[in-house]
Amino acid sequence: MTPTFHLPTLFDYIEQNRADYLERLFDYLRRPSISAYGEGIAETGQYLLEWLGHLGMEAQLIPTAGWPVVYGRRADQPGKPTVILYGHYDVQPPDPLEAWVTPPFEPTIRDGRIYARGVGDNKGQHSAQLFALEALLKVSGGLPCNVIVLLEGEEEVGSPNMPQFVRENADKLAADLVIISDGPVDVSGQARLEFGVRGIVTFELRARGANQDVHSGNWGGVVPNPLWTLVHLLSTMKNERGEITIEGFYDNVQKPTDLEHAALAKLPVDVESVMRDLGLARLDEPRDRPFFDRLSLWPTFTINGLHGGYSGPGSKTVLPHEAFAKCDIRLVESQSVEEIFAKVEAHVKRHAPDVEVIRSGGMDPSKTPLDSPYAEPLFHAITEGQGEEPQIVPAMGGSLPNYVFTKTLGLPTFLVPYANADESNHAPNENMEVERVIKGIKTGVSMLVRLGEL
Ligand SMILES: [Zn+2]
Repeated sequence: MTPTFHLPTLFDYIEQNRADYLERLFDYLRRPSISAYGEGIAETGQYLLEWLGHLGMEAQLIPTAGWPVVYGRRADQPGKPTVILYGHYDVQPPDPLEAWVTPPFEPTIRDGRIYARGVGDNKGQHSAQLFALEALLKVSGGLPCNVIVLLEGEEEVGSPNMPQFVRENADKLAADLVIISDGPVDVSGQARLEFGVRGIVTFELRARGANQDVHSGNWGGVVPNPLWTLVHLLSTMKNERGEITIEGFYDNVQKPTDLEHAALAKLPVDVESVMRDLGLARLDEPRDRPFFDRLSLWPTFTINGLHGGYSGPGSKTVLPHEAFAKCDIRLVESQSVEEIFAKVEAHVKRHAPDVEVIRSGGMDPSKTPLDSPYAEPLFHAITEGQGEEPQIVPAMGGSLPNYVFTKTLGLPTFLVPYANADESNHAPNENMEVERVIKGIKTGVSMLVRLGEL
């Protein structure tokens, strides 16, 4: 008998099982899984392996150079789409412990919120997906589409092994799309469907002068000043109109589509109140650029810090012997880390050949077209599960390693966050609203049902 998937019946079932879901989520949250120093990671991987087994998945722990990836697959519907549900089972360290109202690994409900390390980031969110699979199996006796569950154990330390894992396991990851439930909904509480993220490259510029700090009177005019070297160099990299002037920097920036422009224009923002909250008298240059265009469509060049010489109390007439600038560049489609870092190196070589450029990290940008065939079914499914239409966000300002799915595997990738915006992830008193866990389970169900109708 082919199973039928009736959303109201499925949602009723979810409502009736609220207490049971919370009890099992609490059991999961009590298990520390701190990738920064490995506490509880191996045990938690094993725990999830059993969980996926109970969902009738072919499940395994796939080793990487670091912590293993938990993998499960269930193909109930040959010919229907296969979706990868990605999440991460590691959590941030809980410090500072004394700042928690209740201990981080003793989940507690206060004012409709579950407080525990990792509840929003990301255990509550991927548990919702797993409870959704369970609800479909219990109520309908099967899944409406094919599902791969992929739970990483190193997201909180920067996913160092994901690029290689995805390259080496492309056959296990044969699918049609990826859904990531991580991060928060909008600050207003409205749900979101996000299509992309900016990339990032981080580097340091190092300039050297004499082999020691010297007296600025005895040696000023003779000994070059590495801080001035950096100031001059940096001024050739971005002008006061806000344009990045590294040669060729904008060559590969993709022009936004009409759909993207329209979606960005629809996103709600009260610029006046943002400025008030941040104590700003103006926005960054160029002044006429729309708010969300700044975060989604344009790359940035940020000096994170400029160091050298003396900055203590009073004055010290020193001529410093070295100076450092820490920088990051946020990338947009279709710039790449390799391309932009090479352009930075070439630029520095031309303008300040003595300055050393040291790369520290990078992640390519990622974007899925707004007119992907999965966009509309997901939009409707989120509307059903969350009880309201989601905002359409072409690309977020921050960076996540989504490019491993969009670029390495060539799969459309969607972020469907379930957590509240004030989830305090990475901070003390991390929390997730109980209601958002339940809505997440419903959304997980409706997304799979809608995908099964394709
Ligand atoms: Zn995190």
